[in-house]
Amino acid sequence: MIDHEVIIVGAGPVGLLLACLLAQQRVDVVVCERRPDADTRSRAIGIHRPGLDALDAAGIGAEVRAEALALEGGEVRSRGRVLAALSFPPERPVLILPQRRTDALLRERFDRLAAGRLLAGHVVRGVRDEEDFARVAVDGGHGLREMTCELVVIADGVHSALREQLGIPWCERPGRGRYAMLDVRDEAAGARAALHCEPRGLVEAFPMPGGRRRWVVRDAVGEPDLGTAAGFRRAIEERTGIRADIPDDATPVGFRAGQHAASGFGRGRIALLGDAAHEISPIGGQGMNLGWSHAMRLAEDVGRSLGAEPDLRRYAKGAPRAARIAQRRSAFYMSMGVPASGVPLHSRELLIRALGSPPLRGWATGLITMRGL
Ligand SMILES: Cc1cc2nc3c(=O)[nH]c(=O)nc-3n(C[C@H](O)[C@H](O)[C@H](O)COP(=O)(O)OP(=O)(O)OC[C@H]3O[C@@H](n4cnc5c(N)ncnc54)[C@H](O)[C@@H]3O)c2cc1C
Repeated sequence: MIDHEVIIVGAGPVGLLLACLLAQQRVDVVVCERRPDADTRSRAIGIHRPGLDALDAAGIGAEVRAEALALEGGEVRSRGRVLAALSFPPERPVLILPQRRTDALLRERFDRLAAGRLLAGHVVRGVRDEEDFARVAVDGGHGLREMTCELVVIADGVHSALREQLGIPWCERPGRGRYAMLDVRDEAAGARAALHCEPRGLVEAFPMPGGRRRWVVRDAVGEPDLGTAAGFRRAIEERTGIRADIPDDATPVGFRAGQHAASGFGRGRIALLGDAAHEISPIGGQGMNLGWSHAMRLAEDVGRSLGAEPDLRRYAKGAPRAARIAQRRSAFYMSMGVPASGVPLHSRELLIRALGSPPLRGWATGLITMRGL
């Protein structure tokens, strides 16, 4: 007799979304989360069509739309000129909502669907496929206990200790870079994004709900100053000519963007999901959205095969392919923001102009809004 049909490891946005979808299908699901409280770090803000479809399926699309800022479009600039301007049509919206709010809405939704099934402060130390069931070792603060289930979904994030413990290779894909990021008050942020692909490196400015703006600056040459308000402000001004209103006591957060994928996403009674399965560079804002879209596929597979051996073939085949496409796109976006001069800079500017021209603009908008993923 097993304890639960599905155990999900990790209450990040992806594990939580899957939990909501399964609970809606009346699957007996629990989520083990090592943090005692919600994660309030500033991370994802961009929600694209595939992500919105998943949020609708999980029953919180309307709440997300009500809180989010709908991005009207954006410009790509270089050396004081607009190279391309795109608008997002209603059928391909881009919504901006800080991840901590999306997470909170997902947590509330899961609590409404399955109260008490989110086990906060519970660290999963190990999982094992026993063929007829899966075994999960959980540390809830009072020693280890074992739980059993038909399927365990590992959604414990990019540094997944369980993926490593299972010996699943983590393969590097092209696309690396270092960035600094800061969310600040800005009542004049508007509803359009600006991407400055400057000779000295990328500067991004995204409006956020509640009169705020996110700045992202590529750390082009190991600039130690980018971690201070003054250095961050100076980098924006030197690259773009914009005097950003960055408070002196603000602390920009550095992050390293990389791309990896697990060598397999699902086997037997164990599935990897979200960042545990694929790391997609934050540049382009696809990682969480892709994880959600994969959670929908996995929920369908689970719904079809519960009671028997889980049949994850569809998920295990389709999700890695989509991750590869998203990673190629992110690697391209990152390459548009590396420091450049001379012929490479001119070629890049020409390419961006071409992508923003009427014959290609629709295609480029589809790319940015995750068409096909
Ligand atoms: C700066 C930045 C900006 C980003 N912007 C975007 C964006 O605009 N759009 C987008 O789509 N994506 C974006 N991303 C990516 C997005 O944040 C991630 O893809 C997303 O958080 C992945 O969700 P997840 O649930 O898979 O993993 P996580 O959010 O990492 O959640 C994993 C959870 O598992 C828990 N956990 C770990 N180990 C255990 C264990 N052993 N037992 C129990 N629990 C465990 C952790 O505490 C955590 O709560 C951005 C990322 C960064 C860093």
